[in-house]
Amino acid sequence: MTPLLRGQESEGGFGIYVHWPFCMAKCPYCDFNSHVRHQPVDQLRFTAAFAREMATMRERTGPRTISSIFLGGGTPSLMEPETVGSVLNEIAKNWTVPDNIEITLEANPTSVEANRFRGYRAAGVNRVSLGVQALNDADLRRLGRMHNVEEALVAIGLARDIFPRLSFDLIYARPDQTIEAWREELNRAISYAADHLSLYQLTIEEGTPFYQLWKAGKLITPDGDHAAALYAETQDVTAGRGLPAYEISNHAAPGAESQHNLVYWRYGEYVGVGPGAHGRFIENGKRAVTITERHPETWVSRVESNGHGVVEEELLTGEQEGDEFLLMGLRLVEGIDLARYERLTGHGVKEKRVISLAEQGLIEYIGNSRIRTTPEGAIVLNAVIADLAA
Ligand code: SF4
Repeated sequence: MTPLLRGQESEGGFGIYVHWPFCMAKCPYCDFNSHVRHQPVDQLRFTAAFAREMATMRERTGPRTISSIFLGGGTPSLMEPETVGSVLNEIAKNWTVPDNIEITLEANPTSVEANRFRGYRAAGVNRVSLGVQALNDADLRRLGRMHNVEEALVAIGLARDIFPRLSFDLIYARPDQTIEAWREELNRAISYAADHLSLYQLTIEEGTPFYQLWKAGKLITPDGDHAAALYAETQDVTAGRGLPAYEISNHAAPGAESQHNLVYWRYGEYVGVGPGAHGRFIENGKRAVTITERHPETWVSRVESNGHGVVEEELLTGEQEGDEFLLMGLRLVEGIDLARYERLTGHGVKEKRVISLAEQGLIEYIGNSRIRTTPEGAIVLNAVIADLAA
């Protein structure tokens, strides 16, 4: 039997990520690659650029079978359904897209965007991830969101009727948030029958308006102990309601885990298309990293002139792959396969270190060749990874 070359079979899956970089307004905590335009965006021009960059990426990856597609942003629910349909058609022209793979679109729950949901479903989207963020109007205003709770609930109801799968995001560890208030909000969120929740702690990113307020002492976020208690409460409530964590911030009913996110955390491969998109895929036996131009109009011009908007790239060494594999995989409740670490790096993790971390209660074995972090280890994940990778 001819052995498979690296990249012919994809350990961890092979996803396509498409970045739509525009938003109606910039949220004060956001450091994503998102931009506000006061003129209509030329969606046809962007569609043509997505198609062109995909064709270039297809030349690099060769023929592959896709395991998931994710339209993220920015706010992809500002795309016309025709734009989404064209992007999905282009993906299918370049790679093999099996029936029923997960195709997710991130959406904001304003009424304008919810009106496009049927069009997205008709275009092939089968999972929507709603940026609900809070079920409390005062906090939604404080987070600079464009929707209120009432609109969010209408969008959730509509999404549940239209899409086979629904996830939504909430931000917690918000200023003044008590454990009781969060518990009540989380229980309410679960009762809206999403099969997947992404629950992120509010983080203050440098360069954002929230960072300025925080530095000036005008925005107080929970201290470490309170944040840890909110995290513990999150784990308890979600597990008790049938949506246990499968990753540090992601919770799902069994079988409803996001296949696309799993591609990242299982250290699979993905092509990133659009402004500021990252990709990681096997090319000539090595893992290539690609990063495209962040500024949307500059990205389009680059694609129009060069066939792609890639501005940074590198080929990873086995050692770098091993570090990334630990970094991603130890976020997962299913943990990592030590044999794969050895295949990537050419050597195993140091047994002495594994034993020492296990003795400290930070990691545990699952069977003979898998390890994962314990809940205590998850809180100090970076230190655990640094120790294992040293
Ligand atoms: S909608 Fe999302 S991507 Fe856009 S500014 Fe707000 S947080 Fe950032």
